[in-house]
Amino acid sequence: MPDALKKYEYQTEIKKILDIVIHSIYSNTDIFIRELISNASDALEKLRYISLTDEPIVDKDLPLEIRISIEKEAGNLVIEDTGVGMTKEELIENLGTIAHSGTAEFLKQLQKQPGKTAEVIGQFGLGFYSVFMVSDHVKVITRSYKPGAKGYIWESDGASGYTIAPEEGIKRGTRIVVHVKEDKKDYLDEEKIKSIIQEYSNFVSFPIYLSGKKINTIQAIWLRRPQEISEEEYTEFYKFIARMDSEPLFRLHTSSDAPIQLHALLYIPKENYEIFGLTRMEPGVHLYCNKILIESRVKDLLPDYLRFVKGVVDSEDLPLNISRETLQDNLLIKKIGKHLTKKILETLKTQKKENPEKYREFWNAFSTFIKEGATTDFENREDLAELLLFESSKTKPGELTSFDEYIAQAPEDQKEIYYLTGMSREELENSPYMESFKAADIEVFYLTNPIDDFVMTSIREYKEKNLVSADNANIKLPKKPGEGEKKEVEKETESPIDEKELKNFIKWLSKHLKDRIEDVKISERLVDSPAILVNPDDMMTVHMQKILEQAGQTLYTSGKKILEINPKHELIQKMVRLKKEGKNEDLLTMLADQITDNAFIMAGLETDKSAMIRRINTIMNSVIKE
Ligand code: ADP
Ligand code: MG
Repeated sequence: MPDALKKYEYQTEIKKILDIVIHSIYSNTDIFIRELISNASDALEKLRYISLTDEPIVDKDLPLEIRISIEKEAGNLVIEDTGVGMTKEELIENLGTIAHSGTAEFLKQLQKQPGKTAEVIGQFGLGFYSVFMVSDHVKVITRSYKPGAKGYIWESDGASGYTIAPEEGIKRGTRIVVHVKEDKKDYLDEEKIKSIIQEYSNFVSFPIYLSGKKINTIQAIWLRRPQEISEEEYTEFYKFIARMDSEPLFRLHTSSDAPIQLHALLYIPKENYEIFGLTRMEPGVHLYCNKILIESRVKDLLPDYLRFVKGVVDSEDLPLNISRETLQDNLLIKKIGKHLTKKILETLKTQKKENPEKYREFWNAFSTFIKEGATTDFENREDLAELLLFESSKTKPGELTSFDEYIAQAPEDQKEIYYLTGMSREELENSPYMESFKAADIEVFYLTNPIDDFVMTSIREYKEKNLVSADNANIKLPKKPGEGEKKEVEKETESPIDEKELKNFIKWLSKHLKDRIEDVKISERLVDSPAILVNPDDMMTVHMQKILEQAGQTLYTSGKKILEINPKHELIQKMVRLKKEGKNEDLLTMLADQITDNAFIMAGLETDKSAMIRRINTIMNSVIKE
């Protein structure tokens, strides 16, 4: 069957995205030019790369360039490149479908932040569709570099769908004809187009001609010496390479000769676009060999948790003809990645020390990435741990502290760093696990993010101090000589309990609770509470076990806990007496079950609620004697 005009429907996700693009009000529609030029530049980079291999190429002698022209009468802005072009299959694949599910939903969420959609659309492989902010009809006329490939015209109004038809007599590359909407005619003004290109696309490494005149300065800024680059140039390059409108938060421009020859210009942005958790950022670093792009958004260079870093890396040592498939196995790439990871973490560490307010801004946006790193990057664990910030029992609400600050203010002989996990600061402040720490004046990190538990158990130690959860069974705190203790002593002498009776009671209690509790012990840590559950598991806190349970990870179902009782507490003393006198065994049993339930609840674990309420009612009833 001969090739003829065919109609296609957009994929549902794309329809949603187009709907958002067409019906939103944008603060910055200029960026569609940046997106189209960056696509042209990508296509040219790909062609330059292919031309270094033996692959045959159509129209091999065409110069690699971008040409922009304005058709005032027809109302068109035309952007043309001599890059790789697209086959018919590629047209359908690239300009009608989308791999990420959930992207449309993500953009919907983002719409709630006024004016941001336009900026962000390019971050998620949707840059092309931004053209429909300003256009009611777009033509893509293209021919692939592949020998034998035909030319095609793709056309769409951005609403119903698109058509593809064969087209004779066109050269390699892509020509995009943007018919601008009635109220967007200013995009037919040459001066305006020129200034937009200079703002966003000045660093494109191919010549850009506007109405026949070259308007960009082609330069690889990362190869220049830092002293010669102005702040403005750095920021401009960031906006270009990261496709961002804002300024970066931090910058790292580094060169080295040995053991690896490289130049890198990397940036850390202000915004984290993964905030809604709906989609995952692509890596943002592009890999060059002597100014030639080997791969954009290279996946196997930096560890995954650094996917928010933007910029370029250039190394002459890279084999130019390296196939993209073997990139990930390439030893040099691994070395470069390791080197840069260290550099990035160093930059962050320095900023944390020298620029705490800015670092806090970074932390607010990217803390989950650093935590992800702390649980996955064993090699850089100590550096990543240094970057962590948490609230603690010694910070005000909302204030954060770090391991280093913790160690600096802790007694020198304290060998542990303590933490406690829970749902909120309030819950943690009132936790019975905190009693002994408060009494001994020892700082405890308050962790309220579900991932924090994994972070702590992954790091395990920092500067030779073990990280220990405050609910751990083996904690022995130094007694702080102070008023708190004196009071305790007084109480003790008031109503001493017999050693033997206490032992008897504990024996009875552990037998009675044997289905729920591994062991009953005398607590060294409790001050105000009668009993507490402690966790004999060094690997996992109770909080973490609970989270895993809720996530259906029954493999990790909470092991049995140890119940610690506080013999200084009046209730326990009364219970010991009840046991000794052998009277009212029903009440004693109920009290034992109730303090156990209370301890379970304080630890955040499940109890049989209806049984508990029945029991409480009975206890309350027995209190009132008519
Ligand atoms: P991204 O550039 O992030 O992949 P876009 O929506 O901007 O997302 O473009 C989608 C795809 O369409 C590109 O990946 C590319 O394959 C193809 N494409 C767009 N413009 C061109 C062009 N000028 N030449 C060749 N291919 C293009
Ligand atoms: Mg693009």
